[in-house]
Amino acid sequence: MSSCIFCEIVCGDAPANRVYEDDELLAFLDIRPITQGHMLVVPKSHSTELADLDADAGARMFRLGHRLALALRRSDLAADGANLVLNDGTAAFQTVGHVHLHVVPRRHGDKLRFATGLILRRSKEPEATALAIRAGLDRFETEGS
Ligand code: 5GP
Ligand code: ZN
Repeated sequence: MSSCIFCEIVCGDAPANRVYEDDELLAFLDIRPITQGHMLVVPKSHSTELADLDADAGARMFRLGHRLALALRRSDLAADGANLVLNDGTAAFQTVGHVHLHVVPRRHGDKLRFATGLILRRSKEPEATALAIRAGLDRFETEGS
């Protein structure tokens, strides 16, 4: 689907800071992060909404979101927690019509920054951020949580 920005990212026609990829899934940094390290997990195969998404693909997407949330804790971003959010349909403020799971790192006491991030949403050092999360994922995979 050439008109879908996330399909373009998946096939490399549009740039993105990639954090993880396998045959079925891609995780990359959100271009307008709410907090530093905000990622999107997408099935590589296009589905617009949950109604079109294969249930096993949905389970795999969440499984990766789960791993990335734990990797964020092990990364130098030192997250204390994460918001995993999926906006399904325009009624739920879905703005990109390719199913995606938001993984938003959170830190104790970051409420103000989170609220500011909702408004400002500027990307900060995306390459270094993606590198730090990949290192956290390696640590998590080899040492556990
Ligand atoms: P939604 O509201 O659909 O759940 O969220 C869509 C998300 O995709 C937003 O957080 C937005 O910043 C992000 N986004 C939109 N276009 C792009 C893009 O071209 N590249 C990246 N990396 N993120 C995007
Ligand atoms: Zn797509």
